[in-house]
Amino acid sequence: MVDFELSKEQIALREKARKFALEEIIPVSSKYDKSGEFPLPIYEKAFKAGLMNLGIPKQYGGQGYGSFESVLVVEEIAAADPGIATSMYANDLGAEPIILAGTEEQKRKFLTSLTKELKFISFATSEPGMGSDVAGIKATYERQGDEYILNGNKFWVTNGNFASYYVIFARLKGTKRHEGLSAFVVPRESEGLSTGKPLDKLGHRASDTGAVILRNVRVPAENRLGEEGIGFLLAMGTFMRTRPAIGAFATGLARSAMEHAINYAKQREAFEHKISSFQAIQQMVADMYARIEAMRLLTWKAAWLVDRGDRDANTAASVAKLVGAEDAMKIAIDALQVYGGRGYLENYRIAKLFRDAKLFQIYEGTSQIQRYVISRYLFKEYEPIMKGF
Ligand SMILES: Cc1cc2nc3c(=O)[nH]c(=O)nc-3n(C[C@H](O)[C@H](O)[C@H](O)COP(=O)(O)OP(=O)(O)OC[C@H]3O[C@@H](n4cnc5c(N)ncnc54)[C@H](O)[C@@H]3O)c2cc1C
Repeated sequence: MVDFELSKEQIALREKARKFALEEIIPVSSKYDKSGEFPLPIYEKAFKAGLMNLGIPKQYGGQGYGSFESVLVVEEIAAADPGIATSMYANDLGAEPIILAGTEEQKRKFLTSLTKELKFISFATSEPGMGSDVAGIKATYERQGDEYILNGNKFWVTNGNFASYYVIFARLKGTKRHEGLSAFVVPRESEGLSTGKPLDKLGHRASDTGAVILRNVRVPAENRLGEEGIGFLLAMGTFMRTRPAIGAFATGLARSAMEHAINYAKQREAFEHKISSFQAIQQMVADMYARIEAMRLLTWKAAWLVDRGDRDANTAASVAKLVGAEDAMKIAIDALQVYGGRGYLENYRIAKLFRDAKLFQIYEGTSQIQRYVISRYLFKEYEPIMKGF
């Protein structure tokens, strides 16, 4: 039997995240969006409240939540501020390769370090010359005794300027494409590692995004995650487990945009009537609500499959991310339209949500890449129900 009811614990967790979002994030969201400052005080509070490091197992000091509990929390935080949420949950992206491929010793060392006090870990596949094509990574490594020497440039690194650790994906010098990719945990203080300036972005302005430059960085061999050569599979395995959360980010943003649109439509008058009395407006908000319901259900299903360790989770995660990203953008555009000219002003929150929505179609695999993942499943694995066409 399929059951859509949340447990008492799940409802309490969602309430806790909602309360934090309303009391701690909403009042300062606009300030951080305008200044582009990294909201460390919020992260300190979220860390203390147990709203960070959601997927890190309890034995390493994390919250030990499954993907399902995580998406409940993420939707609430993203509804308040998608940018603050992105940096708050980048630790779950950075920690995932360690959870998936780390040894017991690596988990104890790195994961526990992230949960003892507020620290950040960044995930870095992308480079200035490539993002979608993970097999095209150019950063290299070579072994020298008990160490690896890393060289290359990583770009678009969320929390790159604040991280204590980076999970760097690089290739064995001389190899091509998927073969030879490996992942390493690289401490920030490593000699030869430097960071670039924070990037000035259209949206998610409170989230730090930067460059990490590696020049003959020596990493102890014990910091390699899994066997050499598993880097590509490890990156894809990580995305499968973290993409449902992007569906939750998108759902939170879309819900917030819809609520703003309803609220504004109830107050604004045109042609001597509230604009909420016009069918064109009613149809728009009805579509928003229907899409949000669909986004949330797809996100929940993908998270549930991830928690079950189901092989279908990969396609479901891409579906949740694709539908979430596309619908959040559409809902943000329509919600802004409900505001008319005021929607175009930065002093209304809807403009920020509109700017923030765009990123979901880009990071953790663009919408085109999600369609590629889904179509590969359809052409290679999908079993047609009606055979013989
Ligand atoms: C704010 C922000 C934060 C980010 N955080 C991180 C992070 O923490 N860690 C990290 O590693 N990366 C991060 N990224 C990078 C992000 O994952 C990449 O930007 C994204 O994967 C796209 O890569 P690209 O920018 O190189 O675009 P490209 O790969 O150059 O793509 C350009 C365009 O071509 C399309 N395209 C490419 N290949 C195909 C194809 N085969 N079929 C059809 N269309 C295609 C794309 O969809 C896109 O529209 C972040 C990016 C941003 C903007």
